[in-house]
Amino acid sequence: MSKFLSKEASRLAPYTPGEQPTDAQYIKLNTNESPFPPAPKVVKALSRAEVLKLNLYSDPTCGRLVEAIAKRYELQSENVITGNGSDEILAFAFRAFCGEGKGLAYADITYGFYKSQVALFGLDAKVIPLREDFTLNVDDYMDFPGTIVIANPNAPTGMTVSRVDIQRLLEADPDRVVIVDEAYVDFGAESCVPLIYRYDNLLVVQTMSKSRSLAGGRVGFALGSPELISALNRVKYSFNPYNVGRLSIVAGAAAVEDEDYFQTCTAAIRNNRKWTVRELEALGFTVLPSQANFIFAKSDKLPGGELYQKLKENGILVRWFDADRIRDYIRITIGSLEQMAALVDEIARLLEEV
Ligand SMILES: *Cc1c(COP(=O)(O)O)cnc(C)c1O
Repeated sequence: MSKFLSKEASRLAPYTPGEQPTDAQYIKLNTNESPFPPAPKVVKALSRAEVLKLNLYSDPTCGRLVEAIAKRYELQSENVITGNGSDEILAFAFRAFCGEGKGLAYADITYGFYKSQVALFGLDAKVIPLREDFTLNVDDYMDFPGTIVIANPNAPTGMTVSRVDIQRLLEADPDRVVIVDEAYVDFGAESCVPLIYRYDNLLVVQTMSKSRSLAGGRVGFALGSPELISALNRVKYSFNPYNVGRLSIVAGAAAVEDEDYFQTCTAAIRNNRKWTVRELEALGFTVLPSQANFIFAKSDKLPGGELYQKLKENGILVRWFDADRIRDYIRITIGSLEQMAALVDEIARLLEEV
C-alpha cells in the first residue's frame, strides 16, 4: 500500500467494474448495457449547437432533465434529483441518510457497489442473507433501525420483491428511509414510484444506463418526497454542484421523452430473455426467475468459472462472481436476438466437449 494513502483511503473497498475490453471485438454480455443505440430523439438533440455551448457550465439544477423526468413519472420537480449515473445518487443518499448511529442494511447477494460506498463513508453495514432460494424476505429487515437499500429487481439474481412487501417495510417505521434501487425495473418488475406521494420515507433510484441505452451518458435519478430530495441536494451541493454535464442533460431529457423507442427496446429485451431462458433450460441450465435485462444461470455440467473462461476464449463476455453461494452461476446480459443465438450456440458446443 502506498505511503501517500491516508488512513481512511487505505480502508476503502473499491468496486471492480465488469470488463470493458478495448483489445478485441467481444459479444459483450457482461455489464447489462443495452444492445440498442440511444433513442432517435437523443441523436437528434445532441446537435452542433449544443456542443458549441460546452464552454459554459451545465445547469446545476439540471432543470430541463428534472422537468422531463417529473412529467414522465407524473410527479413534481421537487420530487426529482438527477446525478452522474445512479451510483452518484446512491452515494448522495448514503451520505444523507446514514452515519453515526444510523447504519445501512442490504442483502448478502446484491449490487457490489453498496459495500464500496459503505467503506467510503465509514458506515456500519448490516448484511442480511437472502433466503436459501435467493428470495429477499422483508421480515428479515423489519427491526433494523437504520437505512435500508434493496435492489429491485436484485442484481445479480434478477429476482423481485413485491410492492406490497416494500410498503410493509415503509409502514413498519416511518422514521426509517427505504431506498429502492430500480436500475432494472423497466424490464418487467413492479415499480414503487406510485407510492411516492404516500410515503415520505421512500426513495426510488433509477438510471438511464440500462433501459434507456445511455450507460456512457451517465444519467441517474431519484424520486421521492421533497424532504428526501432536498437532503440529497444538500450533499450534492457539498460535493459537485455541476454533477451532470450539458450533453448528458440534453441526452437524458430526450431519452425520457422518446416513449415509443423505450417501449420497443424494453419489449425486445423481455422477448429475448424469454427465448434465452427456454434455450438454456433445454441445455440443462437452472435459470433464476429474472425480471431484469440479465439472467443468472448455472449449468449442470460446467462450473461457473470454467464456463465464463471458455466463453471469453471464444469471444463472448459474461460476468462471473467468485463468491460464496453464487460461484456456480454466470450472469448473462440479455442482448439482441443475434447475440443470444451466438451465445446459445457456443454454450451448446462447449457442453458437447465436456
Ligand atoms: C447498473 C446499476 C446501477 C448504477 O448504474 P449507473 O450507470 O451508475 O446509473 C445501480 N444499481 C444497480 C443495481 C445497478 O445494476
